[in-house]
Amino acid sequence: MVKKKDKSKLHEALYYKQLKDKKVQCQLCPHSCVIDNEAFGKCRVRKNVNGKLYLVAYGKPCSVSTDPIEKKPLFHFMPGQDALSIATVGCNFSCLHCQNWSISQAKVEEVPYMVLPPYAVVAGAVKEDIKIISYTYTEPTIFFEYMIDIAKLARKEKIKNTIVSNGFINPKPLNELCSYLDGANIDVKGNEDFYKNVCGSHLEPVLETIKTLHKAGIWLEVTNLIIPGYNDNEKDIIKIIKFISNLSKDIPLHFSAFYPAYKMQGTPSTPAETIKKARTLAMKHLNYVYTGNILDEEGNTTFCPKCKKAVIKRNAFFAVTENNLEDGKCRFCGEKIAGVFTLK
Ligand code: SF4
Ligand code: SF4
Ligand SMILES: [Zn+2]
Repeated sequence: MVKKKDKSKLHEALYYKQLKDKKVQCQLCPHSCVIDNEAFGKCRVRKNVNGKLYLVAYGKPCSVSTDPIEKKPLFHFMPGQDALSIATVGCNFSCLHCQNWSISQAKVEEVPYMVLPPYAVVAGAVKEDIKIISYTYTEPTIFFEYMIDIAKLARKEKIKNTIVSNGFINPKPLNELCSYLDGANIDVKGNEDFYKNVCGSHLEPVLETIKTLHKAGIWLEVTNLIIPGYNDNEKDIIKIIKFISNLSKDIPLHFSAFYPAYKMQGTPSTPAETIKKARTLAMKHLNYVYTGNILDEEGNTTFCPKCKKAVIKRNAFFAVTENNLEDGKCRFCGEKIAGVFTLK
């Protein structure tokens, strides 16, 4: 990736308050970091400069690429379409198992980046005829101002906005985001102890985000990455399943297998059987449950909840290999399948 000459100015943050002695308090996520002058917040992309808070990663993505929307994973959101996927460095979590730790736990100057203002991101999508932008890879809510500026422009071009997020954001910015958001995949990582000990964070605000997105009518899917010995006990998995099914049986749930990464190199990969077992458990309560990071044709397939036939088949590379939907309905029995299946 080419690092171009950076002519961009510092971009002031939207959600913070000024305190005494040139300190500020960020109000974007529930960490509520109090930041000294010249210091950064926990997410490494928000810096206090002379009593003002700036998003230093604004317009400086470290990752820009095109992925199938299925890779997010979003399985019920315009299947088979590509998503222009974009991330800056930084995250408000510090998960010991992070697959993308080299960018999520870095500062802007530590990773090559592009200078890419919002209009250039959207122009790129228009030029390539890409209908979805996905804010992903690291934690998109921490580059909130950049994301929202891209999202506003994307809307004007009838491009859909999607996030893949840990869901750890305060209600006010979340509500603003909801005005421009079309789809989301939110992680539910485990119980409160898991959030505290493995992610350096908390569970409750994540559950609140999920409720808000669902209430706002944003298309929502949920991912639970299962790590052996950490969050694989059945009681906790059932809690997650019940939380989602209480909102709606139509919210797709993805169980994903862990592979050793970052500070969890010594932990074994998740056995495929654990993931499949979790899916079987969840299928008793939810209409659409998937497996990820394992070879599992059944776990990659959308089945009609009424006639039980396969309506969307996907291969291990996230490509849609069969689509039996007509106007969002099962071709075999006419049952409406939950999701966003048209560009309207
Ligand atoms: S967004 Fe970053 S700076 Fe703001 S409260 Fe969260 S971790 Fe702290
Ligand atoms: S929330 Fe996601 S990006 Fe952030 S540290 Fe955890 S796994 Fe990595
Ligand atoms: Zn059917």
